[in-house]
Amino acid sequence: MKETILANLEQVHTNIRSACDRSGRDAKEVTLIAVSKTKPLQALQAAYDCGERHFGENKVQEILQKAPMLPDDLHFHMIGHLQRNKVRQVLPYVTMIHSVDSLRLASEIQKEAERIDKVIDILLEVNVAKEESKFGFTADEVLDAISQICRFPNIKVCGLMTIAPFVENSEQNRPVFQKLFQLYVDIKHKNIDNTNMSVLSMGMTGDYQVAIEEGATMIRVGTGIFGVR
Ligand SMILES: *Cc1c(COP(=O)(O)O)cnc(C)c1O
Repeated sequence: MKETILANLEQVHTNIRSACDRSGRDAKEVTLIAVSKTKPLQALQAAYDCGERHFGENKVQEILQKAPMLPDDLHFHMIGHLQRNKVRQVLPYVTMIHSVDSLRLASEIQKEAERIDKVIDILLEVNVAKEESKFGFTADEVLDAISQICRFPNIKVCGLMTIAPFVENSEQNRPVFQKLFQLYVDIKHKNIDNTNMSVLSMGMTGDYQVAIEEGATMIRVGTGIFGVR
């Protein structure tokens, strides 16, 4: 298992560099989030031993089980839908929440972050393609949401995230990534207080190279590193 993960990671990093070369970007601008949901601790440890430090999980329970067993400098990113009643439990263990999809969730995060005297980095999830099955703000709602969330002292809005549709050919998602990038740049230019717009989380195993070409600063890759779930 360890050898496979190592080989997969080398391939992913090669692909990241190629996509950066094609688009005139520096590979240092792109952070790989190794999506380890459903995978055992040994798989995370193997990726950690290869130098990975950022891991993505979509279930609170799994983060709570895994985090205490792993090195302190291994960072968990919450990338899945987060229920308000789980915020308190998960906050101490996560570096960033990518999946803030409502104002009610943001106010719960504010309340709990204040309680433990932390400032939490978050991204707003945007349902760019307006898929019924997906969580997130529509592109039209994002600016209004940010203008409210930026008043929360224990939350720092760091950028945007999207889960693009499942497609056969990754090129089909290029317009989705372009649209999110444009929204990100538009909001960045507004210089909203307490908001720095430095993170654009988009691209998964099937389409991360296209996402990088269109400006992703974080890509979330699971299957391409750890194999099928
Ligand atoms: C599972 C998941 C990923 C990774 O998907 P792969 O296709 O396995 O790379 C990325 N983002 C989110 C939000 C996920 O839930």
